[in-house]
Amino acid sequence: MDDRTIDWEQQRAWVEIDRSALAHNVRQIRSLLAPDTQIMAVIKADGYGHGAIEVARTIIANGVEWLAVATVTEGIELRTAGIFAPIMILGAVNSYVEIEAIVKWQLQPTLCTIDQAILLSKTIVNLESPLPLSVHLKLDTGMSRLGADWQQAAAFYDEVSNLPYLQIGSLYSHLATADDIDPTVMELQIDRFDRAQAAIVAAGYQLPPRHLANSAGIVVTDRVHYQLVRPGLSLYGLYPAPHLKAAIDLQPVMSVRARVSQVKVITTGTGVSYGYRYIADRDMPIAIVEIGYADGIPRRLSDRMQVAIRGKLVPQIGTITMDRIVLDISQIPDLQVGEIVTILGRDGAVEITADDWANELGTISWEILCGFKHRLPRVNRN
Ligand SMILES: *Cc1c(COP(=O)(O)O)cnc(C)c1O
Repeated sequence: MDDRTIDWEQQRAWVEIDRSALAHNVRQIRSLLAPDTQIMAVIKADGYGHGAIEVARTIIANGVEWLAVATVTEGIELRTAGIFAPIMILGAVNSYVEIEAIVKWQLQPTLCTIDQAILLSKTIVNLESPLPLSVHLKLDTGMSRLGADWQQAAAFYDEVSNLPYLQIGSLYSHLATADDIDPTVMELQIDRFDRAQAAIVAAGYQLPPRHLANSAGIVVTDRVHYQLVRPGLSLYGLYPAPHLKAAIDLQPVMSVRARVSQVKVITTGTGVSYGYRYIADRDMPIAIVEIGYADGIPRRLSDRMQVAIRGKLVPQIGTITMDRIVLDISQIPDLQVGEIVTILGRDGAVEITADDWANELGTISWEILCGFKHRLPRVNRN
């Protein structure tokens, strides 16, 4: 779907992508890096809910060299949209993965075990016209998720380099606590990552590019920058943790807006929405707005969220339903059908952020952003 053709004037609700904010965030991240450090932008989960294709086009136009996605399908989506930048797959190669598609689309997978490397190499050898493939070796330095044990790095490296058709494109690991005020674990991970590199050099190899930093790592210390950095959240303009706000100036890229579909007055004692979670304690004007939990508003925000209209915060009342929400519009009794309601983003002097929702729900902004899936069209603004 080419979102650029959408006529937002005729939408019930939509996600707005601010391309200038995205470009600004790329520049901000770049300003923290040495001139020869490259950016591998993490655009998994449909670009954290923003729309991976448009995000990719914008950031490549603004100098980003590499892309990373979680799955093969996400990589193919970018390739079929005509995006030719190098794409690393963060997920590992296993027998359930479409290895032939990886090769066909020249996606660059992650390898975490020698079994994965053998499987990949054998599959390529058996192709009609085998081609060399760039692969990325992942080490577990303390996250205890994907990756080869860092203490086995040299042996792993040696085994992969001896397999036909595999070219080692990079060596990487992932930080577990970079957004923590206490740097102890991160420093341990840096130390292990550096020792793994030294072991590979001692085994007689020249190191490929290395990378370790997520958004928090990038901001916290240039010791984790190496040759590539892997920002995700910061590209989209959110801070991994409040204490990192002073270090970089980011602008949120996503806004979510929806339309008023009906306005009415209810009388004292009237129940609102499923389960009558809210009962009017006075006569009040209410508005129905065309966005619900199927669009990405967490239902647990029922009776706990605010939206913005005409530059004012307005409370949502009752249970959030699949396709719509109800507002108490006592402050704006003359609200009109078709008016635009800001669900997330800025409206005049007020701003509602993914962090506001995350704090209310005890989760993180990453999860809020990824919640905005395909039903809402993306409207791209410059
Ligand atoms: C998701 C992810 C990132 C990006 O993390 P942010 O905290 O969003 O910047 C980087 N590296 C890996 C391996 C990831 O899975």
